[in-house]
Amino acid sequence: MLIDGYHLEVLTPRCEPGSERFAAVAHLVNDIRDVLPYLNATLAGAVYNGSAPALIWKTCGHSVAFHPDHIGVSNVEDRDEAVLEVEELVALVNRTWENRAEIEPTLRERRRAVPMEVYLLLPRTNCKACGLETCFIYATRLTLGQVELRACPLLARPEHRDRLTRLRRLLSVEPDAANGQAGIEQTAPQDVAGGKRT
Ligand code: SF4
Repeated sequence: MLIDGYHLEVLTPRCEPGSERFAAVAHLVNDIRDVLPYLNATLAGAVYNGSAPALIWKTCGHSVAFHPDHIGVSNVEDRDEAVLEVEELVALVNRTWENRAEIEPTLRERRRAVPMEVYLLLPRTNCKACGLETCFIYATRLTLGQVELRACPLLARPEHRDRLTRLRRLLSVEPDAANGQAGIEQTAPQDVAGGKRT
């Protein structure tokens, strides 16, 4: 087990004072820098920064940042959700570390998509069916990992199949096995194991 303890901090994002959503930071007892190349090899859409070092990953509406001494998670509703998310991430790190003999680590760095290139691939009707005012706001939220591709129902239409394929490629998103269309990362940890809060 790589992580055998952490201290959880739940706070309002500095860029959104007064926000009703929170960010969680797990301050780790152990240094996890050695697992980052293995996570980089296995997490769809992860963006690795070797000079930090840090790995940014978007999953299920959250942005996750793995650093050597802490893991940050954005967009949590309350402390209970923060605990659940952090426990799953700690289990993911531990599981990846335990399976490292079967993983080819990589230091490859990927470029993060910018909102305009995402926007240009959307249907651009501003129909609000995704719950947002404009397609550009949706594009911005997509690049930040705050919404999923399936939130735009128009992308499921046959005439937008090519757009959806290109968006998945740009955002490094896997097809959703459940509905076969506009899904996003399906690599979230499935079981919670290890790790204890301090
Ligand atoms: S549902 Fe899709 S097309 Fe409609 S506003 Fe949202 S992103 Fe744009």
